[in-house]
Amino acid sequence: MNKEKDRNIKLTVLSIVAFATTFLPCLVLLIYSSTIEMDYIHVKLARIVAVLSLVVAAVPLMWVNINVGYYKCSHCGEKFIPSIRTYSLGVHVIGTRYLTCPKCGKSGMFKKTMS
Ligand SMILES: [Zn+2]
Repeated sequence: MNKEKDRNIKLTVLSIVAFATTFLPCLVLLIYSSTIEMDYIHVKLARIVAVLSLVVAAVPLMWVNINVGYYKCSHCGEKFIPSIRTYSLGVHVIGTRYLTCPKCGKSGMFKKTMS
Protein backbone atom coordinates (compact mmCIF):
# COMPACT_ATOMS: atom_id res chain seq x y z
CA MET A 1 0.00 0.00 0.00
CA ASN A 2 1.48 3.36 -0.95
CA LYS A 3 1.70 6.31 1.43
CA GLU A 4 -0.97 8.46 -0.27
CA LYS A 5 -3.54 5.67 -0.26
CA ASP A 6 -2.74 4.90 3.38
CA ARG A 7 -3.13 8.62 4.27
CA ASN A 8 -6.43 8.85 2.38
CA ILE A 9 -7.87 5.84 4.18
CA LYS A 10 -6.79 7.27 7.55
CA LEU A 11 -8.42 10.64 6.73
CA THR A 12 -11.64 8.92 5.69
CA VAL A 13 -11.80 6.78 8.84
CA LEU A 14 -10.98 9.81 11.00
CA SER A 15 -13.75 11.90 9.41
CA ILE A 16 -16.28 9.08 9.90
CA VAL A 17 -15.26 8.65 13.56
CA ALA A 18 -15.48 12.44 14.11
CA PHE A 19 -18.95 12.52 12.57
CA ALA A 20 -20.11 9.50 14.57
CA THR A 21 -18.92 11.05 17.84
CA THR A 22 -21.11 14.06 17.08
CA PHE A 23 -24.02 12.10 15.63
CA LEU A 24 -24.60 9.84 18.63
CA PRO A 25 -24.87 12.62 21.28
CA CYS A 26 -27.12 14.61 18.94
CA LEU A 27 -29.36 11.60 18.48
CA VAL A 28 -29.54 11.14 22.26
CA LEU A 29 -30.33 14.85 22.67
CA LEU A 30 -33.15 14.63 20.11
CA ILE A 31 -34.67 11.55 21.76
CA TYR A 32 -34.17 12.95 25.25
CA SER A 33 -35.86 16.24 24.37
CA SER A 34 -38.85 14.32 23.02
CA THR A 35 -39.36 11.98 25.94
CA ILE A 36 -39.06 14.06 29.10
CA GLU A 37 -41.10 16.96 30.42
CA MET A 38 -39.38 20.20 29.47
CA ASP A 39 -40.44 23.76 28.73
CA TYR A 40 -41.38 24.37 25.11
CA ILE A 41 -38.46 26.74 24.60
CA HIS A 42 -35.95 24.22 26.02
CA VAL A 43 -37.24 21.47 23.74
CA LYS A 44 -36.92 23.75 20.72
CA LEU A 45 -33.46 24.91 21.83
CA ALA A 46 -32.25 21.32 22.32
CA ARG A 47 -33.49 20.34 18.86
CA ILE A 48 -31.91 23.38 17.19
CA VAL A 49 -28.56 22.68 18.87
CA ALA A 50 -28.71 19.02 17.85
CA VAL A 51 -29.53 19.76 14.21
CA LEU A 52 -26.94 22.55 13.91
CA SER A 53 -24.29 20.27 15.45
CA LEU A 54 -25.10 17.58 12.89
CA VAL A 55 -24.81 20.05 10.01
CA VAL A 56 -21.49 21.40 11.29
CA ALA A 57 -20.16 17.86 11.82
CA ALA A 58 -21.21 16.84 8.30
CA VAL A 59 -19.09 19.55 6.61
CA PRO A 60 -15.65 17.99 7.31
CA LEU A 61 -17.02 14.55 6.46
CA MET A 62 -18.24 15.81 3.10
CA TRP A 63 -14.99 17.75 2.47
CA VAL A 64 -12.91 14.63 3.07
CA ASN A 65 -15.19 12.51 0.89
CA ILE A 66 -14.83 14.96 -1.98
CA ASN A 67 -11.11 15.73 -1.76
CA VAL A 68 -9.60 12.42 -0.71
CA GLY A 69 -8.95 10.18 -3.68
CA TYR A 70 -10.55 10.72 -7.09
CA TYR A 71 -13.16 9.40 -9.47
CA LYS A 72 -12.11 7.66 -12.67
CA CYS A 73 -14.16 7.96 -15.86
CA SER A 74 -15.08 4.53 -17.17
CA HIS A 75 -15.22 5.90 -20.76
CA CYS A 76 -11.91 7.78 -21.19
CA GLY A 77 -10.01 6.99 -18.00
CA GLU A 78 -9.81 10.63 -16.85
CA LYS A 79 -9.16 11.02 -13.11
CA PHE A 80 -11.05 13.92 -11.54
CA ILE A 81 -12.40 15.41 -8.32
CA PRO A 82 -16.03 16.57 -8.67
CA SER A 83 -17.23 19.99 -7.56
CA ILE A 84 -19.27 20.25 -4.36
CA ARG A 85 -22.42 20.83 -6.45
CA THR A 86 -22.01 17.79 -8.71
CA TYR A 87 -20.89 15.67 -5.77
CA SER A 88 -23.93 16.65 -3.71
CA LEU A 89 -26.42 16.07 -6.53
CA GLY A 90 -24.91 12.80 -7.77
CA VAL A 91 -26.83 9.64 -6.99
CA HIS A 92 -24.49 7.25 -5.24
CA VAL A 93 -24.10 3.68 -4.17
CA ILE A 94 -21.23 2.59 -1.92
CA GLY A 95 -17.98 3.42 -3.73
CA THR A 96 -19.60 4.80 -6.90
CA ARG A 97 -21.38 8.03 -7.82
CA TYR A 98 -23.31 9.20 -10.87
CA LEU A 99 -21.16 11.98 -12.34
CA THR A 100 -20.30 13.62 -15.64
CA CYS A 101 -16.69 13.42 -16.82
CA PRO A 102 -15.15 16.91 -17.24
CA LYS A 103 -12.97 15.70 -20.15
CA CYS A 104 -15.27 13.64 -22.42
CA GLY A 105 -18.66 14.86 -21.09
CA LYS A 106 -20.11 11.37 -20.72
CA SER A 107 -22.05 10.46 -17.59
CA GLY A 108 -22.11 7.25 -15.64
CA MET A 109 -21.53 5.55 -12.31
CA PHE A 110 -17.87 6.28 -11.66
CA LYS A 111 -15.88 4.44 -9.05
CA LYS A 112 -14.07 6.26 -6.24
CA THR A 113 -10.41 5.35 -6.04
CA MET A 114 -8.26 6.23 -3.06
CA SER A 115 -4.98 6.50 -4.98
ZN1 LIG B 1 -14.36 10.71 -19.60
